[in-house]
Amino acid sequence: MVKICCIGAGYVGGPTMAVIAFKCPEIEVVVVDIAAPRINAWNSDHLPIYEPGLDDVVKQCRGKNLFFSTDVEKHVAEADIVFVSVNTPTKTQGLGAGKAADLTYWESAARMIADVSKSDKIVVEKSTVPVKTAEAIERILTHNRKGINFNILSNPEFLAEGTAIADLFNPDRVLIGGRETPEGQKAIKALKDVYAHWVPDDRILCTNLWSAELSKLAANAFLAQRISSVNAMSALCEATGADVSQVSHSIGTDSRIGPKFLNASVGFGGSCFQKDILNLVYICECNGLPEVANYWKQVIKVNDYQKTRFVNRVVSSMFNTVSGKKIAILGFAFKKDTGDTRETPAIDVCKGLLGDKAKLSIYDPQVTAEQILRDLSMKKFDWDHPAHLQPSSPTTSTNKQVSVVWDAYEAIKDAHGICILTEWDEFKKLDYQKVYENMQKPAFVFDGRNVVDANKLREIGFIVYSIGKPLDA
Ligand code: NAD
Repeated sequence: MVKICCIGAGYVGGPTMAVIAFKCPEIEVVVVDIAAPRINAWNSDHLPIYEPGLDDVVKQCRGKNLFFSTDVEKHVAEADIVFVSVNTPTKTQGLGAGKAADLTYWESAARMIADVSKSDKIVVEKSTVPVKTAEAIERILTHNRKGINFNILSNPEFLAEGTAIADLFNPDRVLIGGRETPEGQKAIKALKDVYAHWVPDDRILCTNLWSAELSKLAANAFLAQRISSVNAMSALCEATGADVSQVSHSIGTDSRIGPKFLNASVGFGGSCFQKDILNLVYICECNGLPEVANYWKQVIKVNDYQKTRFVNRVVSSMFNTVSGKKIAILGFAFKKDTGDTRETPAIDVCKGLLGDKAKLSIYDPQVTAEQILRDLSMKKFDWDHPAHLQPSSPTTSTNKQVSVVWDAYEAIKDAHGICILTEWDEFKKLDYQKVYENMQKPAFVFDGRNVVDANKLREIGFIVYSIGKPLDA
């Protein structure tokens, strides 16, 4: 029986390994993590992350061929294939601070693999890492453990949060990069055999190590660039009277461009896009390519500009001040169908409004009060008791300027304005007549995701701002 161990039970490690276990009943999969609360949650009825379909997949395999454990060393030692799916955040200090990837977690995982291994292993980069990381990992593994063969593969993950299970079941492609030596090709074949259980052969792409590592950074940079491009157009639409939805549709019908990922919004978020572009910028600079670095930097600058523009629009529409005014924030996660708030645009928008002394009443169906207050830096994050692991019983958390509530209507009550920051379906379906009646007048809606029918809301009496659309007179 092939044994797989995955180091890191996060948003990637948990779902990807659950799907491998589900699709390959004869393979034993153990997901290990140093964070005991996370592992306890994976072993409970309240999984540590919210993803549609994940509960079912985990429940069907857990205890049969899928296991979650904090006994990292034991399971790594026993595995034939070790995936490493630890976090690779942006460095906060020292050389490359603010841009380069922090590979501390990766390095300590590699040293541990070298220390505990007693048999040959395939080590798979699942985390997103800078191009050439495999070279450094090989050096650590082979220096620290002579006589054992380690074959390094790059197998970056392309899942999107919110659709992770669907993406894993039916991936556009699986990418495997390895050395062009006979041993490297043998390792590629072994990993290919795992995915071949459910992924068609023509969707498994095999490349050299550096192409696979760079492809992941390139894919995220291209996706984010597309969002910044359409958001840049949205600013021009507002200035000229064009409608960004019509422009997106018009350009998306060109088969060379395509219709996906052309929705204007308050900006992109999530743990990956910004971090991976910063990483790309750093790599370009280190390779003496400042003009290429500047090109990618601009994607982030436009994203920041879009968030600032949104806050400015809210304040200027509400008679140039939101001081003391109640603003309902609908949605805090960086996108719908996830409880993940890492780098969510809601953080910058809320901080901007708080800076102008607004009172915020925040509601998100999947994000706890603890997490929101931590993100707004009102409470220190405690790794031993991560917010997303706490029971999601309805709670109301209040401080002077921010309250977090567990119902959209509660958030909206007596508010002067509403900001929609996540495209949760329930925000489309609210009874806006009732909402209007319960708000201060004039009642404003600032739709950061273009989810509401602005004309219908105008008929009710709202003043509506939608991204990239003609403005109310
Ligand atoms: P995460 O923070 O949710 O999970 C990482 C886990 O690794 C944490 O639980 C942490 O405790 C654990 N860990 C760190 N060091 C460890 C060690 N030495 N031993 C055992 N466990 C350790 O991160 P994530 O969102 O799952 O992302 C993981 C990687 O995948 C990152 O490189 C990210 O860029 C990449 N990625 C993320 C996504 C996404 O949508 N989140 C998509 C594709 C790729």
